[in-house]
Amino acid sequence: MDVYDHVTDLVGDTPLVRLTPTIADTATPVLGKLEYLNPGGSVKDRIALSMVAAAERDGRLAPGGTIVEPTSGNTGVGLAMVAARRGYRCVFTMPDKISEEKRAVLRAYGSEVIVCPTAVAPDDPRSYYSVARRVCSETPGAWSPDQYSNPDNPAAHEASTGPEIWRATGGRVTHFVAGIGTGGTISGTGRHLKAVSGGTVQVIGADPEGSVYSGGSGRPYLVEGVGEDIWPATYDKAVVDRVEAVSDRDSFLMTRELARRAGILVGGSCGLAVVAALRVARELDAAGTTDACVVVLLPDSGRGYLSKIFNDEWMYDNGFLDPPSDEPTVASVL
Ligand code: PMP
Repeated sequence: MDVYDHVTDLVGDTPLVRLTPTIADTATPVLGKLEYLNPGGSVKDRIALSMVAAAERDGRLAPGGTIVEPTSGNTGVGLAMVAARRGYRCVFTMPDKISEEKRAVLRAYGSEVIVCPTAVAPDDPRSYYSVARRVCSETPGAWSPDQYSNPDNPAAHEASTGPEIWRATGGRVTHFVAGIGTGGTISGTGRHLKAVSGGTVQVIGADPEGSVYSGGSGRPYLVEGVGEDIWPATYDKAVVDRVEAVSDRDSFLMTRELARRAGILVGGSCGLAVVAALRVARELDAAGTTDACVVVLLPDSGRGYLSKIFNDEWMYDNGFLDPPSDEPTVASVL
C-alpha cells in the first residue's frame, strides 16, 4: 500500500506553478512555489520538523516536554503538528494584530495561545517575545525552538527548499525572491542556490515598507509574517543581494489578484513577494535578458486572512480599496 505513517512525513516537495502570463505579461517566467500545500498549510512545517528533530537528538526536548514559542501562527501550526506525533504540550504567544482565525487554528490543534499587545517594544515585559521567555523559564521541561536564533531554521531550507527549487527548474533558476520574517527561508534557500550555481543565482528579499530589512525603523505595517523591528540571527545578510520594499496596499491587492486570476488562495506575504518578483522580471525584460527564470516562494494559504485581505469592508476601512469604484487592476499596483 502507498500509505504514510503520519502527516509530518508529507512536509516538503511542494510544486512550482507558472504565475506568468496569468498574473502579468512578462517574457521572463515567474514561478511560484506553493508552500500552502504542506500538511500544516505553510512553509513553517519545514522548520518545525528540523528544529524539533535536532532538539530531541541533543536532549533539549524529552518525552513529556512543553514547546513554548512566540509565533504569528504558521510556526505554531507546524510545531503543534509535530508535537501531536510525540505528545508534547504547546504554548504559543502572539501579537494581537494576528487574525483570530490563526489563533483558533492553534487552539484546534490543542495548543494554548497567549495574546500579547502589538504596540510595545520587543524588550517590554508584555511583548510576545518576553512573555514566551517567561513561560519557558517558569515551566519544567519547557523548550523554546526560538525560530529567530535557531540555526536549524535556515538549515531546514538549505537542506530542502533550495534543493527542491534547483531540481524542479533543472538548474535554470536565476533569481530567487522571498519575504523576510526570521530570514530563515531566504538565508537557507539562498545559500543553497548560490552554492550549487557557483554564486550566480540572485537572491532578492521582499519587505514591508517600514521594516528594518529595507531600511525602515520597524514602523507598523499590516502584512503578517514578514518584516521585523529587530535583526534576527537567522537572517544572513551576506546571502541577500537586494531587498525590495513593498506597501501593504500593493501586497494585498496582488494577493487578491492571485486568488481571482490564478486560483491561488494565499496570504498577504505571498502578494508582497509576487510584487517584488514581478519588478525583478520587468527589469530583466527591460535589460533584454532572455534566459532568466524567477522563482518566488509563497509561504502560506489565504484561509487565515478571510476576515482581512479578502474582506472588502476591511480593505475599504484601511484605505486599500476605494468604495464604490472598481477594484484596481494588477497593472496599477506594479
Ligand atoms: N510569510 C509568512 C506568512 C510567515 O509566517 C513567515 C514566517 N514568519 C514568512 C513569510 C517569512 O519566513 P521566514 O521567517 O523564513 O523569513
